[in-house]
Amino acid sequence: MSSMQELFDPVSDIADRLTSAVTWESGARLWPSNEQQALTCCRVIDETHDVKTFAFCTQDKMPVRFEPGQFMTVSATVAGQSVERCYTISSPPSRPYLVSITVKRVPGGVMSNWLHDNLRPGSHLLAYGPSGTFTSTASTARQSLYLSAGSGVTPLMSMTRASIDLGLDRDIAFVHSARTPADIIFREELKQLARLSPKLKLFFICEGVREHDDWSGATGRLTLQQLSEWLPDFAEREVFTCGPAGYMSAVKALLRDGGHDPAHYHQESFDITADAGPEATMPSSHATSNTFTVKLSRSSKTFTMSASETVLSAAKKAGVAIASSCSQGVCGTCKTKVLEGTVNMKHNGGIREREVQKGFHLLCCSRPTSDLVLEL
Ligand SMILES: Cc1cc2nc3c(=O)[nH]c(=O)nc-3n(C[C@H](O)[C@H](O)[C@H](O)COP(=O)(O)OP(=O)(O)OC[C@H]3O[C@@H](n4cnc5c(N)ncnc54)[C@H](O)[C@@H]3O)c2cc1C
Repeated sequence: MSSMQELFDPVSDIADRLTSAVTWESGARLWPSNEQQALTCCRVIDETHDVKTFAFCTQDKMPVRFEPGQFMTVSATVAGQSVERCYTISSPPSRPYLVSITVKRVPGGVMSNWLHDNLRPGSHLLAYGPSGTFTSTASTARQSLYLSAGSGVTPLMSMTRASIDLGLDRDIAFVHSARTPADIIFREELKQLARLSPKLKLFFICEGVREHDDWSGATGRLTLQQLSEWLPDFAEREVFTCGPAGYMSAVKALLRDGGHDPAHYHQESFDITADAGPEATMPSSHATSNTFTVKLSRSSKTFTMSASETVLSAAKKAGVAIASSCSQGVCGTCKTKVLEGTVNMKHNGGIREREVQKGFHLLCCSRPTSDLVLEL
């Protein structure tokens, strides 16, 4: 970490004094994932040359309730266009007064560059409440293996910080892959946490090392041999992995070759471009020329669409603004109640079964199989 800007920090006293007695259940207000509120930026931290952390508090200064590993969907108007993107909350729920996101600049990317260039302490940003099922609370395993690459470190950082803040009896092995030593996000803090907690085992591996880098650690890509050397018991651990799509498929193959049981594997990808995903995938069973009518119950708007399109992309073409972000059935931002009719939904974990039972669907990965009435 090289520098930190701080304008005001209304709650650091309280936040610093929070102890392991705090859980993500206590005192914190529930902020639904379909409810937008303005957050105030309190700090901006330069993590690496192209990664910044933005810490926010709510306008009413109330603590926020979330689970470690969940994300928020943030909105901004960039060049006159409304843009929404998901960012994992990198801070832990054990420090609920300030929620942080840690953003890597993506070359040519709209939101990441806008956040880096415009957000300052005192700025406001609109966000939807926490969402997502990639969380360490999904498992009661005592022994975990966190595997991350690049900015995929963020959900695992929230889980690690929470585990240590709360004194949880979890044995965490954290293996992080980076391009170069200068790209290791949270390097010093992770090392400090590993010094604090004998239950945290930390390993970094860098794909490349430049001449002036001070690095005596592992280099190259993560291999089964390297993982087995570091962690002979890795196959018995509950695995949580996050990173670019290519990294995750390599890791999945490596774990399979090492005898890890896929039932104990959890993953999240930020990479919405590497895999075309549900927005672009048309199931062959729906390759028909059927046309359906979609009616919006609140606005009384109606549009027609083909059975091969997702409801979200058809709505966008028809000029209907619907909050959305990942287009992958991951983030849950476009969750909408289908009041009448049926859809074929192929999601990627962005909606819970009980929500589906209540009639909710993710429009980004749902194709109509009849005329529809949506609660919009
Ligand atoms: C659940 C979830 C959690 C996430 N958490 C994090 C996190 O903690 N930290 C983080 O940094 N990111 C995170 N992301 C990724 C984040 O949501 C954004 O996708 C990322 O910041 C890029 O957004 P952007 O608007 O800057 O880029 P975009 O504008 O969406 O561009 C993405 C890519 O497409 C290219 N592109 C854009 N426009 C064009 C065009 N017209 N033609 C060709 N190529 C183009 C860009 O060059 C870029 O390579 C998360 C994503 C998900 C789904």
